[in-house]
Amino acid sequence: MDSASGTRVLDIQDGIVRNIDTDGASYDLSVEGVVVPGLVDAHNHVGIDVGDEHAQAAEPLAVNLMRGVRNLERSLLAGVTTIRNCGERPGAEPVWIRALAEGWIRGPRLVGANEFLCRTGGHSWYSAHQVDGPDSIRRTVRENVRDGACFIKVAATGGMATSGSDVGRPEFTFAELAALVEEAHRLGVPVGAHAYGGQGADDALTAGVDVIEHGSLFSDDQFARAAQAGVAVVITGTIIPAFLASDDVPWDIKEKMAPFARVAIDAAARAKAAGVTVGVGTDGVHGDVVGELELLLEAGFSRIEALEVGTRVNAEITRGVASGQIQPGHAADLVVLEGDPTQDLAHLRRPREVMLAGNWVAVRTPAPRERGSR
Ligand SMILES: [Zn+2]
Repeated sequence: MDSASGTRVLDIQDGIVRNIDTDGASYDLSVEGVVVPGLVDAHNHVGIDVGDEHAQAAEPLAVNLMRGVRNLERSLLAGVTTIRNCGERPGAEPVWIRALAEGWIRGPRLVGANEFLCRTGGHSWYSAHQVDGPDSIRRTVRENVRDGACFIKVAATGGMATSGSDVGRPEFTFAELAALVEEAHRLGVPVGAHAYGGQGADDALTAGVDVIEHGSLFSDDQFARAAQAGVAVVITGTIIPAFLASDDVPWDIKEKMAPFARVAIDAAARAKAAGVTVGVGTDGVHGDVVGELELLLEAGFSRIEALEVGTRVNAEITRGVASGQIQPGHAADLVVLEGDPTQDLAHLRRPREVMLAGNWVAVRTPAPRERGSR
């Protein structure tokens, strides 16, 4: 982590940091405070809120889109400058990406999977693209890449938030998963597999997925396999407590989730011990990357390690434009804080300013002062 003190001048061109501490043509941040890289949320769904996901999916798509607009802004104001978006209702994500590109709405950079792929009747079937059989799966992968997906997201095991779905059960046949991964890799995009544990997690690792989402019920052997294969695991620790605290969540979902309220902390500790690359995602607790980092402290990470997870490591897992570090060649995504988060992560909860790709985009939006010859 780059923690510098004193006056710093960044040379920013076209949204990218070119040089640090150069004289002459340069860009004075014109702010005082502790500057850290913008946070990266490595697993979210901007169109979904904590609550009754099935009911939300039954609403008109326009409602879903507007919810996403609010959540994008909420994340940005919280200092999140990149979201790895892990699957949306068909048709939703391209609209936000267009609106962000046009400047109609404000929000973090979206690195998205477009649709969420599940088997017919599988986890999140009401909002996912249901697909069965290797040939149909290949076609769906191709369609998603055609429509802008940066990676493919697939449910390899059941999930918590779907009534009747078993988190320990594999969702696809191995032949289906293998076809999905092979097709995605042939087209040059990585695969993120929703996998809690059990046979579905083994199948996902054997099929060669690039990222495991959740991983909360992985065995130590499975974490060792992930570490060996260089597969990152994105822990989602705040979402289940948020569901349990919500009045909008159906009772059967709460009953299923209750025993798993803190398994993510244990999983993060065991993944770290096994040498796995650990990322974090809010999975619907929009903007609260800090909450995820605080859970990592409980799992034995230091504050600096947690901060690196929320910035550099999450950015590397996301594989979008280079970000998550204040370094030449990386996006000028910055958050200005009142205090040093390596002393207390809570400072991350009160961003003074947020810069995305060289532009002040949130909070107080001061007019930056140009300095030098340009
Ligand atoms: Zn998710």
